[in-house]
Amino acid sequence: MPLHVSVLGGPRDDNALLVRALGGQSARRLLFDCGEGVLRGVARADVQDIDHLFFSHLHMDHVAGFDGFFRVNAARPRTVDVWGPAQTATLLHHRLRGVMWNLHAGLPGTWDVHDIHEDHVSGARFRLAEAFAARHELPRVEREDAVILRDDALSVEAYLLDHRTPSAAYVVRKTPRVNLDTDRLRELGLTPGPWVSRLKAGEEGTLEAQGRTFHLADLRGELLRTTPGESVAYLTDFLLDEEAHARLTSVLRGVDTVVCESQYRAHDHALAIANHHMTSVQAARLARDADVGRLVLFHVSERYDAADLPGLLAEARAVFPRVEFPPHWT
Ligand SMILES: [Zn+2]
Ligand SMILES: [Zn+2]
Repeated sequence: MPLHVSVLGGPRDDNALLVRALGGQSARRLLFDCGEGVLRGVARADVQDIDHLFFSHLHMDHVAGFDGFFRVNAARPRTVDVWGPAQTATLLHHRLRGVMWNLHAGLPGTWDVHDIHEDHVSGARFRLAEAFAARHELPRVEREDAVILRDDALSVEAYLLDHRTPSAAYVVRKTPRVNLDTDRLRELGLTPGPWVSRLKAGEEGTLEAQGRTFHLADLRGELLRTTPGESVAYLTDFLLDEEAHARLTSVLRGVDTVVCESQYRAHDHALAIANHHMTSVQAARLARDADVGRLVLFHVSERYDAADLPGLLAEARAVFPRVEFPPHWT
């Protein structure tokens, strides 16, 4: 089940990221930010299939396209989960209320909006059947680590960074796959059976086969091979100072795809610092130091025109060769 990563929006537009982990019952669709027009090229049915919407922060260029998401999901039977830094629930509540609701009685539509804090996640539930008027507090969940969401298909980590307001960076990791080494199985003269589920579940006990007694704990080391799941990181709108660089270098180590803003060219480094953004060279240094698989640059400032893009990319490539723009930008 590969991880599909699509940057939405063009080089001079608002951008977003759609991540799809497809395959059978564990398919997941995650949208990161929702700037103006980013959903234009996404089929209505695919927007309705988005399981979670994650905001880095709620500046206009990251939330202006929210109505497009809201339009097709307001009355969705399945709960809509929205995530973002502190105040996301309060700000989203205004958006949900900013419509004339008078024919809503009995309609489905439950929206859980989660505020990510350093040490906990709080938030609120809003219901279309109540015209989204009432705010129902969600239980506070203490954060033991960076993971804010984990299910059988994937996990999502959140890191709060400084954009003169908290801005969340996210890392999605597919759940590692555990496979049986069939060659080794044959060498041991064993045949698969219900015991394999017990083995994968980490159970203790023994297996009687071939006139011998095998201990599951021993077989686990002999037969199970773990393949790490694919991973993608979404980084945008924050100051990449030395501290953030060091923190993210360890977080991103070995991540397959890093989608990172490149708001400024190298010669505008002072502007990047002043506005709590990054240059393409800073993004490339981070990718190099974390030894990531590839770096995809997006969210370029409107101050540059199309002629600036090759230079912006070349500056990054001089630092980290495995860098590219989204395919539809070139
Ligand atoms: Zn932005
Ligand atoms: Zn911003």
